[in-house]
Amino acid sequence: MEDKREPGLANGGKTGKREDYLEWSEYFMAVSFLSAQRSKDPSSQVGACIVNPENKIVGIGYNGMPNGCDDDLLPWSRYADDWLDTKKPYVCHAEMNAIMNKNSADVKGCTMYVVLFPCNECAKLIIQAGSSSPRRPRLSLILILSTTLRSRTRRPSKTGPKRTTKYGGIMSLKGKTK
Ligand SMILES: [Zn+2]
Repeated sequence: MEDKREPGLANGGKTGKREDYLEWSEYFMAVSFLSAQRSKDPSSQVGACIVNPENKIVGIGYNGMPNGCDDDLLPWSRYADDWLDTKKPYVCHAEMNAIMNKNSADVKGCTMYVVLFPCNECAKLIIQAGSSSPRRPRLSLILILSTTLRSRTRRPSKTGPKRTTKYGGIMSLKGKTK
């Protein structure tokens, strides 16, 4: 059916485009935050989103138990007398899941948007998922809101992940939200 309204009236009487739309980085940050809400972890919900140079999402992940493992049977606590009774040996972090869930051949030259600073294991994964060749682009990293180091590192260290990402050439930027 033909729209007989005056041109522009559908946009609040304005004829131009909207001005308060999300920037790309805000959009991908929001996707990461939304992904985090899928996590069943009671203490930390983390989301990650990998974006290629054409601003297309090629991988999304959040922290959770490994595929096929019953998350009603595995422990979710952070601390216990026995380390094996904590979630730490089992939970797959958001960064790992985003890389494993990628729908492209590789993530070289892509950017990962993630809610928290990566742990030591994920820092290594992010480096390895990129390229070891200095001529080829790496997977870069953009942090959202927080640069707090995770307490869920397998060998807790305040410098390990930062040193790894620095030596691995990962660019990390602190993101902004509206
Ligand atoms: Zn991690």
